Amino acid sequence: MSDPLDERDRAGEPLAVVAREAGPYLASLRERLVHDGAKDALLDELDGPLPAAGDGAVAAVERLVRIGTAAATHSSGPRFFHFVVGGSTPAAMAGDWTASLLDQAAGLWPTSPLAARAETVVLRWLKELFGLPASFGGVLTPSATLAHVAGLACARSWWADGYGVDVTSRGLAGLPVMPVFSSGLVHVSTRKALQTLGCGRDTLRTFSRDDAGRVDLAAMDEALALAGGRAVIVANLGEVNTGDSDPIADLADLAERHGAWLHVDGAFGLFAALSPRTAPLARGVERADSVTADGHKWLNVPYESGFSFVRDAGWLSRAFGAWGAAYLPEADDERINYNMLGPESSRRARALPIWATLRAYGRDGYREMVERHLDVAAHLGGLVEAAPDLELLAPVRLCVACFRYRPEGVPVERLDGLNARLGEALLADGRVYAGTSTYRGMTVFRPAPLNWRTTKADVERLVDVLRELGPAVEA
Ligand SMILES: *Cc1c(COP(=O)(O)O)cnc(C)c1O
Repeated sequence: MSDPLDERDRAGEPLAVVAREAGPYLASLRERLVHDGAKDALLDELDGPLPAAGDGAVAAVERLVRIGTAAATHSSGPRFFHFVVGGSTPAAMAGDWTASLLDQAAGLWPTSPLAARAETVVLRWLKELFGLPASFGGVLTPSATLAHVAGLACARSWWADGYGVDVTSRGLAGLPVMPVFSSGLVHVSTRKALQTLGCGRDTLRTFSRDDAGRVDLAAMDEALALAGGRAVIVANLGEVNTGDSDPIADLADLAERHGAWLHVDGAFGLFAALSPRTAPLARGVERADSVTADGHKWLNVPYESGFSFVRDAGWLSRAFGAWGAAYLPEADDERINYNMLGPESSRRARALPIWATLRAYGRDGYREMVERHLDVAAHLGGLVEAAPDLELLAPVRLCVACFRYRPEGVPVERLDGLNARLGEALLADGRVYAGTSTYRGMTVFRPAPLNWRTTKADVERLVDVLRELGPAVEA
């Protein structure tokens, strides 16, 4: 078997292999280990020399699915609490398969009116879901990091414009350092976006009034005055260790008073807007100049899915649109070339899984899911507080519980090492996944239940397994 043309009339067969295996695999997620280290040996079967004559599509895909369903990290199951990882709703996953089936060149209107129109529709739906003004522009990105690149590229264009420089065509040469201010809640991806944009990762200044990173508004106010207001404020809605948020409305006030650009990182925290219980945390985000969020976290859409919203869409096209290639088509308000509004050129129709999941579950379904996760996280916090050998380290906010293992009699200076070893033991055990992080100088667990499959029973299992493994690790 060599030439794919030989398989032209059987092109659906390898897809049928995946579809056949999908049902049993998805059904198994509820109970199976998150990761089974014994299956890592199968990874060798991926390896070997480049085949000269291929196996044919069905054999190759059967092999891939066999290895994959066994050796994957089953992070789309209900007990993967490491980092901030969502699952994939049934509708989103099928929408994603549809995106592959149709394989649209989704950057330009003429190559796919379907993809462009779907992107326009889902951006409108998402703005409505998050309570953002309909007048905001937006673009789908592969991730929140790339959504930061989009939003902060707009901020950079706005800032350079103040010096009479078109940074898209001229670059940053000759300009001073762009002042970027945030609190200690800022996520590393913001710095990564700044480094990518040539602004420097370490130019971002944080203003914190305590070791939890909460913002010092007065100090930031002073710095903004010194910068003459031409600065970028990064507000954080949902921090990864505790779910904590900056006071967005206060930062919006500061931005307004000084004429600064307000960028909000709402990678997962923007979903606070979906429930009246948490919506106050997101208040003020509608006053931002640019907003970042993820689809592959709390929206439960497959990787890669992020969105950038920008108050004045003109900045997106100024930052990314000026290609100057004569063969590229002109856009208008109806026929949008989305690759002129974001960092990618060729791109897939990532609107389709978002469309499918929003169509399937609607605003009410998503509110229900978010509120279930709020309840699950609060339940986890309660279990931690009730356990004599666990110590809750921050109030449970949104979908994150921050705590550590602290059995009686262990001196405080040994707790970091103990928790790091317990984290490793938990991952090796595989029944529940939750790694460690550093919070206020302590090694902590900070599980974030935001997978649509996760229920209270799953976080009960997390607590049980941690407390089961703890004494052995300590000994
Ligand atoms: C996950 C996360 C990001 C980065 O998102 P990616 O999709 O991984 O690029 C940014 N900010 C916060 C608060 C996050 O949780």
